[in-house]
Amino acid sequence: MADYIYTMELRLTPNQQKGVTLVQDIARAAGMNVYLTGGAVRDIISGFAIRDLDFTVQGNPLKLQKELERVGAVVSAADDDLKVIYVTLPGGVRAEVSSARIERYEKTGKPPVVTPATIIEDLRRRDFTVNAMALSLNPGSRGLLMDPFNGAADIEAKLLRVLHNYAFVEDPSRLIRALRFSARFHWPLEERTQARYESAKENNYIEYITNRAIGYEIEQLAYEDDPLNVVRVLEKENWLKVLSPHWTTAKVDTTGLSQLMKTRQQMNEFGYSPDPASAVLHFLTARLNDKEVSDIRKMIPRRDLAEAWRDLEDNAKSLAKRLTGKEAATPSRTWKLLSSARQEMVLFLAVTAKQQTVAQKIKNFFTKWRQVQQKVPLAEMTELYITPQLPEYPKIADEVFMLLLDGKLRSRTEILKFLKPLAPPPPPPPPPSSAQNRLKSRRSLCRRLSRHRLQPKLLRKRRPRNHRRSRRRQRRRARNTDLFIALWVGLLPAPALGGSE
Ligand code: ATP
Ligand code: MG
Repeated sequence: MADYIYTMELRLTPNQQKGVTLVQDIARAAGMNVYLTGGAVRDIISGFAIRDLDFTVQGNPLKLQKELERVGAVVSAADDDLKVIYVTLPGGVRAEVSSARIERYEKTGKPPVVTPATIIEDLRRRDFTVNAMALSLNPGSRGLLMDPFNGAADIEAKLLRVLHNYAFVEDPSRLIRALRFSARFHWPLEERTQARYESAKENNYIEYITNRAIGYEIEQLAYEDDPLNVVRVLEKENWLKVLSPHWTTAKVDTTGLSQLMKTRQQMNEFGYSPDPASAVLHFLTARLNDKEVSDIRKMIPRRDLAEAWRDLEDNAKSLAKRLTGKEAATPSRTWKLLSSARQEMVLFLAVTAKQQTVAQKIKNFFTKWRQVQQKVPLAEMTELYITPQLPEYPKIADEVFMLLLDGKLRSRTEILKFLKPLAPPPPPPPPPSSAQNRLKSRRSLCRRLSRHRLQPKLLRKRRPRNHRRSRRRQRRRARNTDLFIALWVGLLPAPALGGSE
């Protein structure tokens, strides 16, 4: 039981972990049972990257909206019929909170009749066995995996299996979902599922797909890591034109899209995590006409995504303009501008910038200027006690970096000249330690006592090395005196004085 919590914590990003805790606490405070469900559980078990968090609560998630917003989440859309809210949790974590429900399909093509249900009943309305698992986040059962259709075994077998024979008839968008997951994971459909799929396709059930499902599936394309591959597979099966009648791969800006994914990867390596969803939609629909694009945009459930996509080009233009203006007159100013710009915009502009100067500045931001960071004179700073313990350290280090970028600190003399006035006073010499004090006082006591030929046992026992040396000297002196006396009285021949003991 505890294993799944451990696996979950291991597999989620720190922001996703915080998101889980946040939703769990808010649902708990509202008296609702809450579960992690769907793709999040599948990906925790399978090891694939977790794209978003799907939560299911026993209750109405719309009641959690205010509290989620209060802690910094953005609620992008709410579906009052299905009782689902689409949320972006702090740190840009995409999540969905839906109510546990039974969906009863009375007529093909008509939306299901929805009634509140338990989590186990809810799992029965899901699309594939690998998506029909829930992980409890409730006290007392936290970490308990509910897997009534043995999805874990299908993950192991790498198979997509529907839960019942009517899965594609009830909701034909599952035909598109089946192919999308199959393209993403390279998992085939299980034999009977494949047969049901073919039969649903032959009977043209796809005609009954709802607009809500179309919008949802278009949005999901934006989150794919390899959207072009998914679009190609959908086109081959004729599902792409279901999403938009004139959509083909010829309408996709494939060069832009692959450049986008490459640049995103590079940004990830530099520690940025821009959300490419709006730019993906831009390139996927690059050659559709304005009306077609605007029709698609209207169907996307998350309004903030639709708006970000709509404003993408305008925002990129204004960032490009700023990059050619006074605000970016020097490398340091450009650095500041690009560091504070929205990462999504930098990503999009990096791929689409037409002006040479803009493209070059973005390139420098990711390559040449980044290497300047390594030149921050850490040795000189340490020499002057400008270390990370200093409260002003980040500010000073940043200032140094800016001056280096602009070529204003070239030599060690220039560096020291800049740093010296900012250096804190050197720390006072450390007071002698108590051990040293004790040693000192023991030595002087020894000296005084030895003058009176009084040496207490304790002092003799722990005598420091110097004393041993002086005792040796004393003994040597005494022996030499004895030798002298012996020679004097004519008992021995004369050896060299001061020989070893
Ligand atoms: P990912 O988010 O990684 O693309 P996912 O499986 O989480 O995959 P979502 O679209 O986020 O897919 O949906 C969350 C869950 O909701 C699914 O795992 C599935 O259990 C359920 N679900 C979504 N769409 C359907 C559908 N059309 N029919 C049945 N269940 C669905
Ligand atoms: Mg999901």
